[in-house]
Parts: sequence; C-alpha cells; structure tokens
Amino acid sequence: MERVYNFSAGPSVLPMPVLEKAQKELVNYGSAGMSVMEMSHRSKVYVEIFDNTEARLRKLMNIPDNYKVLFLQGGASMQFAMIPMNLMVNKKADYLNTGEFAGKAIGEAKKYGSVNVVASSEDKKYTYTPEIDPAKFDKNADYFHMTSNNTIFGTKHTEYPTTGAVPLVVDMSSNILSEVYDVSKFGLIYAGAQKNMACAGVTVVIIREDLIERSDDNLALMLSYKVMAEQKSMYNTPPCYSIYIAGLVFEWLLNMGGVPAIQKVNEEKAKILYDYIDESKLFSNPVVKKDRSMMNVPFVTGNTELDDKFIKEAEKAGFVNLKGHRIVGGMRASIYNAMPVEGIKALVGFMKDFEVNNK
Ligand code: PMP
Repeated sequence: MERVYNFSAGPSVLPMPVLEKAQKELVNYGSAGMSVMEMSHRSKVYVEIFDNTEARLRKLMNIPDNYKVLFLQGGASMQFAMIPMNLMVNKKADYLNTGEFAGKAIGEAKKYGSVNVVASSEDKKYTYTPEIDPAKFDKNADYFHMTSNNTIFGTKHTEYPTTGAVPLVVDMSSNILSEVYDVSKFGLIYAGAQKNMACAGVTVVIIREDLIERSDDNLALMLSYKVMAEQKSMYNTPPCYSIYIAGLVFEWLLNMGGVPAIQKVNEEKAKILYDYIDESKLFSNPVVKKDRSMMNVPFVTGNTELDDKFIKEAEKAGFVNLKGHRIVGGMRASIYNAMPVEGIKALVGFMKDFEVNNK
C-alpha cells in the first residue's frame, strides 16, 4: 500500500526522513543494542537523546536562557488545568474566547478563580479573531491566556496584545514551529506534540523562570511546574519515545534551515490552497481573510451531500482525513509542517477535477 496524503488535524503526518530514521533505529539505537522504547529514562544514552531534543528546540525557537523547557504528559488539555493551578495567585485571569479549545481552557480556569473574557468571536461562529481592547484587561490578572491558532475553526492571531507585567500564556498546539515567534514576548507557551512536533504523548511547556516560583508546594507533585522544572521533567518516567521522535523532527527542521525556512514553505502551501478556494465557484472558506490559519484550512461546498461525496472520493484518491470537525462540518485540510508542497498541489488538482465534474 502506498502512503496517502494525510490531512489529519492531529495526530498528523510526520516528515518521511523522520519516519525512516526512526525505522532504522527502531530495533537497535546506535550501539545501545536495544530500542529507544526499551531504555531506562535515566540511562546515559537516553539522557543524551533527551538533552539533544531540548537543545534543538531551544535553537529552533531561540528560547532565552531564563526560560525552562518542560516535556510533560496529559496533552494540552492538562495544561488548561495546570496553568490556573500553578499561576493563579490572585485567583484572576484574562482569557480570549476564540474557539472550542479556548472555551475548554476557560472552563478549567473557572474552577480555580474568576475569568475575565476580554473578547470573544462566538457571535460569528469563531470565524474571525476578535479585536482586543486593552481597556478590558484586568490589571491584577495573574496572566492573559489565548490560543494562537484555532485548529477547528481555522483562524489565527496575527497580533498579540501588550499585557505589560501580566504574563501572556499561549496555547500553540496547532502552530508551534510553523512560523517565527519571539519567545521573550510570552510568559508561557504550551503545545501538544501530535501536530507539529511528534507522535502523541508529550506536551511541551516553555515557561519563564519567575513564573515557576508561583507553584504552591501543596500542589500534586505531578501537576507542579516547580517540581517538573526542578526534576528536569523526570520526576517520573517521561514519555520517552515521543520525546525521541520530537528530537528527530527538530533535527529535520534544523537541517532544512529552521523555522524561517519552514515558514516560507507554509506560506507557499497556504497560498496555493486559499488562492484556489477563493477562485473556485464550488468551494469556499468561511474565515475572515486576515485571520486565516496557515495550518488548518476549513472549506465547504454549501451542500452537505456534496461535502460527503467529496470526502469519500478524496479518500479513494489517497487524500485522507479531510472531514471537518464535527462542530463545523464540511471539510478541513490540516497542512502542518510535514505536509509537503506536492501534497497541496495534488489536493488542489483533485479539488479542481471534482469541481468540473460536479457543476
Ligand atoms: N489546544 C488546541 C489548539 C488543540 O488543537 C488541541 C487538540 N486538537 C488541544 C488544545 C487539546 O490537545 P490534547 O489533545 O493534546 O489535550
């Protein structure tokens, strides 16, 4: 069986060179005589894999020295809870409501303190990112939370608020490493690995050191940033294999010229797809142009039966996981870093044929 073009929103496509290297090293890593899956996380050989993974991410994102990188479990969803548990000292936080995951983050935060929703795009089914009015900020907020890229609705923020002394906390699950970000502007960045970094199982947290001091000593140890930072993410057994795969993905990115290089490719890919959707008489994208995601591209025909037909025929032709999220319906092409330009060109070719055949 040939490999397909996989447009899954996550877990998603991984770069071929990464899969091939992992395959080569699967049974016997280097001269270890065993698989990475079989190693003690405290062994010299694994600690080297772990340290290299962190060093590569630091290089890729230009992470300043006063930030810790944590490799945790529980997905980005666990961060929805860990963030308020650790950072809510005054029991107040500002949040943006820009979609399903932002909403879930708000729901968890409300269990630990009061949430001020600074802006929301719920009125138009999250098809845009709302204007952020600084007058609505709570000066005493413990942090300001937002989602950089909304995976389900296909929107992304192009501007970030100036929050002064209030740390900016960002869920970058679906667009970390897709474009250049200045880490020093953020207090905490988190992302599940299963879109742009690795297979599922590890969640990356990049946290400014002063924020780590906020963790209360009475927190469950597994849920404390302080404990995880002190123990270098190895208070318990970390998700060893996912971290190893992340290390390979980071190496692949560095070899191609890092984040600026992949950003160019991503811009090219998104342009090819959006340009076609915009000129098409059949397909359309519901998102306000300036807020369009470079990673998740929802589109519809306007006819649910035709959408279903498209998804079925696409799958037969080797373009899989194009079904939109159940909340929005229609289609969605997730075009993360590992999706090659050829995949987008082939998809657009298929869409053009479908349009001709379904006039
Ligand atoms: N935030 C965003 C933006 C996401 O896209 C997702 C998953 N699709 C999550 C959070 C939840 O991530 P996880 O499944 O790793 O908990």
